Amino acid sequence: MSTILAVTECRDGKLHKTSLEVVSQAKALSEKIGAGVVALVIGSGISVESASLGEYGATKVLVADGQALENYQPDLYKSIIIEAIRQNSAEIVLAPATAIGKDIMPRVAARLEAGMVSDCTKILVQDHTIQAEHPIFAGKAFALLSVNSAVKIITLRPSVFDAIQTNPGVAAPVEKVGLPAIEIKVKTREVKKTGGNKLDVADADIIVTGGRGVRSAENFKIIEELAACLNAAVGATRAAVDSGWRPHEEQVGQTGKVVSPNLYIMCGASGSIQHWAGMSGAKCIVAVNKDPNAPIIERADYSIIGDLFEVVPALIEEIRKIRG
Ligand SMILES: Cc1cc2nc3c(=O)[nH]c(=O)nc-3n(C[C@H](O)[C@H](O)[C@H](O)COP(=O)(O)OP(=O)(O)OC[C@H]3O[C@@H](n4cnc5c(N)ncnc54)[C@H](O)[C@@H]3O)c2cc1C
Repeated sequence: MSTILAVTECRDGKLHKTSLEVVSQAKALSEKIGAGVVALVIGSGISVESASLGEYGATKVLVADGQALENYQPDLYKSIIIEAIRQNSAEIVLAPATAIGKDIMPRVAARLEAGMVSDCTKILVQDHTIQAEHPIFAGKAFALLSVNSAVKIITLRPSVFDAIQTNPGVAAPVEKVGLPAIEIKVKTREVKKTGGNKLDVADADIIVTGGRGVRSAENFKIIEELAACLNAAVGATRAAVDSGWRPHEEQVGQTGKVVSPNLYIMCGASGSIQHWAGMSGAKCIVAVNKDPNAPIIERADYSIIGDLFEVVPALIEEIRKIRG
C-alpha cells in the first residue's frame, strides 16, 4: 500500500489548524487511492495532542521534537521531511501553503526532483491520476495540474479544505524521529511577531475589512469595533495600507495575505481583482458600499448599499442587542 505523508505545522508547540486540514485531505485522498496516512509533526516542546491526528485519519504520527526546532530552520526541516518521505516510501506529500510551507516544500521538491503543485484549492482523482487545482491570473481562472514524478508534492491553501474528525476517539501511534546531524547553512535566530496578540487575518473565521472608503486611520475605529463585536480580525485593502492607515500584515490580496474565512465583511472597498485574489475563497461575502455599481456588489453574497458611516454603527448596535 502506498503512503501519503501529511506534513503538519506547529506554532508555539501546538498544532496549527492547517495541520488538521492537511491530515483530513490526506485521509480523503487515501480512501480514493488506497493509501496509508503518515503525519509528520516538527517543532519544539510539542504537546501530546499529536496522537489526536488519528481522529483526522492519520494511521501513524512521526514527531521530530527538539530545542533546535524552536524556530523554523529550513535545513533541518528539509532533512527531516526528506527522511520521512524515504523511510515511509511516500509517493504523495501534502503540506499547508502557509509561509513555512511555501518556503520549505519547493526546497524538498528540488532536492528530490519531485513535481509540485502549490497553493492548491481542490484535489481530484480521475482514472487513478491525481489532479490538483491551482488558481491562476489572480483567481480569474483555475489550472488543473497532474504531477508525473515518483514523489508528488502538493501544498494546500489554508482554510479551503475542511478539517474532518473522521475517527473520533482514535489515537494514532506516535513515533519519535531523531534530529539529523547536518551542517546548518542558514540559521533562524529569532522570530519577531508583529501585531501582538491580534487575531491574524490568515487564521480568522470572520474578517471585517476596510478600504479607501473608510477615509482615515482614525475612522478605522468603527471597523475595529465591528470586528470586536464579531470576534473577527481586521483586514485592509492595499489602498488603506498604502495610505498608512493600517499595517501591511492586515492587507488581503495578491500582494497581501490569502484568506478563506467563513464570513468576509467589506466596508468601503470596491472589490478590485487584486483584492479578490486574496479573498475569493471566503464562504460568505458581505459588501457595504455606497456605489451600487462597485464590482464587489455583483460578487458578494449580500450587499448593503449605503454609507458605511451609517451602516457600520447600525450593524454594531444590532449585533450588541442580539448578543446582549
Ligand atoms: C500589482 C498590484 C498588486 C495589488 N495588490 C493588492 C492587494 O494585495 N490587495 C488590495 O486590496 N489591492 C491590491 N492592489 C490595488 C488594487 O488594484 C486596488 O487599487 C485596491 O484594491 C483598491 O482598494 P479599495 O477597494 O479600498 O479602494 P477603491 O477601489 O478606491 O474603492 C473604494 C470603495 O469605497 C466605496 N466608498 C467610498 N466611500 C464610502 C462610504 N462612505 N460608504 C461606503 N462605501 C464607500 C466606493 O464606492 C468604492 O467602491 C494591487 C494593485 C496592483 C497593480
